[in-house]
Amino acid sequence: MDILKIRPYRLLCLICSFGDNSCSPRDEGLEQILEKIREFPSRPVMLVCNAGDMFSYQDPGNKEDTLKGSDFDRLRDLEILHKLDLMPGAILPARLLLFRIFEQIRTSGGICGYEDTATGKWIGCEKAKRESYEKALKNVLAGNPDCYRDFYKLLKDGKRSIFIERKEEELDEEKKKSLEEMFKAEEISVRPHILLCAVEQYAEGLNPPFENDNLPEMIQHIIKNPGQKIKLVKGADWMICAPCPVRDTKLNACCLAVKGGGGLSNQLRDLRLLKALGLKFGDSMKAKDLYKLIFDRVKTTNEICTFEGIYPSVWQERCAADNLKWTKEAKENELYKKGRLMLMEAFGIK
Ligand code: SF4
Ligand code: SF4
Repeated sequence: MDILKIRPYRLLCLICSFGDNSCSPRDEGLEQILEKIREFPSRPVMLVCNAGDMFSYQDPGNKEDTLKGSDFDRLRDLEILHKLDLMPGAILPARLLLFRIFEQIRTSGGICGYEDTATGKWIGCEKAKRESYEKALKNVLAGNPDCYRDFYKLLKDGKRSIFIERKEEELDEEKKKSLEEMFKAEEISVRPHILLCAVEQYAEGLNPPFENDNLPEMIQHIIKNPGQKIKLVKGADWMICAPCPVRDTKLNACCLAVKGGGGLSNQLRDLRLLKALGLKFGDSMKAKDLYKLIFDRVKTTNEICTFEGIYPSVWQERCAADNLKWTKEAKENELYKKGRLMLMEAFGIK
C-alpha cells in the first residue's frame, strides 16, 4: 500500500482551498493530494517536515518550500504537528488524520496568519487573512460528527466532504443483496461486538428496514429461527455491515473513526467479547445458544466498551466516552440492560 508523504502545511492549504472555492483546489499539487485521498480515504499518510535533530531521518528537503521561505514553512509545519500532538514521520489513515485536523485546528490564525510589522521578515499568508480555512470548516466541509448515524444524516443533507462517501444507490443495492444472502445463509457471519449493539437497537425499537446495517433484520430473523447458525468473524463483514456508510469496501474495515479510531476500538471490543464468551474468531453457534451465553456472561457493556483515551485519541468515540462515564459513576448502560431482558423474553431464555 502506497504511503502518501505530505507536509502538514499542505493539508491546511488543501482545506483552505475549499474556503476559496468550494469545488476543488486550483493548485496542481493540492489537486493531486485530493485525488489520492478521494481514491482511497483510508490511505496511509505520513506527515513529513524539516524537523531536524532526532527526526532528521524523515526530513523531506526544501522542494516544497513556498516563496515565504523555509523558516516560515518549518514554523507552520511544527505548529500544526504540535496542535495535533503528532511527531514528524507519524503515519495515519488520511480520513483519521483529517478529522483530527478538523477537531484540533479551528483556525489558521497563529499558524499561517500573522503580521510582523516590526521587521517585515515574517509575513503571514493572504488566505489566512481572508479566513479561507475558517470558511471551509464552517460552510463547505462536512465537519466532525461523532456518530455514524449523524454522519449519514450529514451526507444526506448534501453537505460536502473532502472524501467522496459511499453513494446512496450503492448502499441501497448493498442492503438488498446482503439481506438476500443473509436470509438464505447456512451461517450468518457477524463481527462479535455488534451482537451487543443489536441488543441496544432492539431496546430502542429499531425495526427493519434499517438503513445503516442489517442488525435489526438479523434479530427479527433469529427470533423466528433460533436454530440459525451465527459465525463470529473479523472486521466489518459484508453480511451485516454491507449498507453501512462508514464501511471501507477495499479493506473490509469499519471506519467509524470519525473522532479518533472507532474502527480500532471496535477491533478491541470484538476481542474483549470473545474472551468474555470463551470463543474465538471462526466459532459458530446456534443463535439462541449464542445469545444465552452472551446474556449469561455480559450483563453490562462496561467491560467491553469502555476506553480511556486522552481526547482526541484513536480509542475514543461516543460509546467509549459513555461507557467510561458509566463505569466511573458505577452505573450501567441502561439501554443494553433493557434490551437484554427484552431479548431474553423474545428467545424464551430463563
Ligand atoms: S456501547 Fe458498545 S454495545 Fe453499545 S452500541 Fe456502543 S459499541 Fe455497541
Ligand atoms: S462498519 Fe462499523 S459502524 Fe458500520 S455497521 Fe459495521 S461495525 Fe457498525
